[in-house]
Amino acid sequence: MTPYEQLFENNKRWIQSKTGTDADFFKELSSDQNPDYLYIGCSDSRVTAEEIMGLGPGEAFIHRNIANMVNNVDLNVLSVISYAIVNLKVKHIIVCGHYNCGGVKAAMQSKDMGILNPWLRGIRDIYRLHKQELNAISDIAKRYDRLVELNVEEQCVNVIKTAVLQLSYLQTGYPVVHGWVFDIHTGRIIDLKIDFERILENIKDIYNLTGED
Ligand code: ZN
Repeated sequence: MTPYEQLFENNKRWIQSKTGTDADFFKELSSDQNPDYLYIGCSDSRVTAEEIMGLGPGEAFIHRNIANMVNNVDLNVLSVISYAIVNLKVKHIIVCGHYNCGGVKAAMQSKDMGILNPWLRGIRDIYRLHKQELNAISDIAKRYDRLVELNVEEQCVNVIKTAVLQLSYLQTGYPVVHGWVFDIHTGRIIDLKIDFERILENIKDIYNLTGED
């Protein structure tokens, strides 16, 4: 059996493991979804969203792209955020980066990355905004780790800049936005404890889209 064919064997075993403990598992799974979490993470194969959080099918709405970016002209991520808030009414939006992120490292290389140039340009912008702090970190690996954290914080701010988030929070008090880093060396999830309320308040001068003060 090839590794590719093995996938279907794995699938059969997975079905057996689910129905073995709950005969109605797929009946319930197919009826609806009601996740409390929207997770926006990196496409990196080592950062398996549900697995690291201990969540199963139906428990998290997931969006992954290179370097967990929330780009304001990316219809994909913006549609996901809108659907998660308006239709699924998620309580928490998590932006999760990870140390050793190849996307973050690639963003800082002095070479033409093709289509990745515009995708990763936002990371160079974040570096420019925090150049003093980052350049003061002599250990290059630690400097990239810090850039990973700063990127997560900035992508959280990008979520908070959307009208759909602002309106929902004003009306319902949800969702709350969180910034995490997955420490790939230990498996630990680190909550960056971004101050959601303060960020929302601070950006209101310029990015308020609710029509309310
Ligand atoms: Zn990554």
